[in-house]
Amino acid sequence: MKIMPNRLDRGFSKYQKEFEDKALDVLRSGWYVLGSEVSSFEEEFAEYTGAKYCVGLASGLDALWIAFRLLGIGKGDEVIVQGNTYIASVMGITINGATPVFVEPDEHFGIDVNKIEELITDKTKAVLVVHLYGMASRMDKVVEICHKHKLKLVEDCAQSHGACFKGQMTGTFGDIGCFSFYPSKNLGAFGDGGAIVTNDENLARECRIFRNYGSEKRYYNKVVGANSRLDEIQAGLLRIRLKHIKDLTNERVCIAERYTRQIKNELVKLPSLVDGATCVWHQYVVRCEDRDRLVEYLNAKEIGTIIHYPIPPHLAEAYKYLGHGEGFLPITERLAKTVLSIPMFNGMTSEEQSYVIDAINSFK
Ligand SMILES: *Cc1c(COP(=O)(O)O)cnc(C)c1O
Repeated sequence: MKIMPNRLDRGFSKYQKEFEDKALDVLRSGWYVLGSEVSSFEEEFAEYTGAKYCVGLASGLDALWIAFRLLGIGKGDEVIVQGNTYIASVMGITINGATPVFVEPDEHFGIDVNKIEELITDKTKAVLVVHLYGMASRMDKVVEICHKHKLKLVEDCAQSHGACFKGQMTGTFGDIGCFSFYPSKNLGAFGDGGAIVTNDENLARECRIFRNYGSEKRYYNKVVGANSRLDEIQAGLLRIRLKHIKDLTNERVCIAERYTRQIKNELVKLPSLVDGATCVWHQYVVRCEDRDRLVEYLNAKEIGTIIHYPIPPHLAEAYKYLGHGEGFLPITERLAKTVLSIPMFNGMTSEEQSYVIDAINSFK
């Protein structure tokens, strides 16, 4: 049996008719950018997250860098962020000229809340929390630290649509929550897309202006902005996916729970939940000291896997200028050598899961 790490076609065929009808509606409407689909999606997504406002943007990376731009964070400022993240989190900081200050993760792949305070200097302006793999981070502690030190709090929720900490949805704990709707994300579009959510009316308005060349009224430009608009087709299709997000998330939770119950191999360490948090299982990430041999073994059985991520941002060529070498973040670097995402996608069949479970259980 051939199993790919992800199957976006399955997510499409599940609601094919609804997607096709919506796409045709938008095509026939004659209105393609910043229209009623976008504003309806913004309202519905804000309501879903529990935030007051949502502003649709062109990508998750745009959501991140525009968030820091609107918060006035730039050259000379430091932002604390976990070392084990997708590089876009860090680019959101550095595009503005600010400096990322890396902190090691905890046992659940999230920011280690006990190591944040020791990194705070008089240049620290914000903390960026990444709810990696769909697992909500320990937000009570992060919020407390940000209040105490008067730091801005931004959340990277590109992988955590719907994940909660103590009943509150990720993205709503701080100043701005940043989302991506890249096709493979839990709430995925059929192209690029992103959004911010916030409870701050001013930030929401400034973001609406910024995404459209800095203009509120056509041809009256207040600031030098960007062209970062979510388009009508993507917004319309996202509304369909959003309508089904509870079922989609539930399906992933069931797959994850079965993996956790049935994978039994002392060479393979399974992920565990943060106390008080829920996980929407963007990825199901196991750890294995002999990871590369496990990858080969699964490949031979036609089971595809992905490493999220093989090179931590501080060791990427792009960030050589920060001057951090190998050994700077031992926990992060260890994870890069041992993590492995096994197949996890909406529409995965029970037989496919059994095949993956049996394969991993017989790895020696
Ligand atoms: C996907 C992702 C992003 C970037 O989102 P794009 O829409 O691809 O720009 C940022 N952060 C994390 C953690 C991601 O997984």
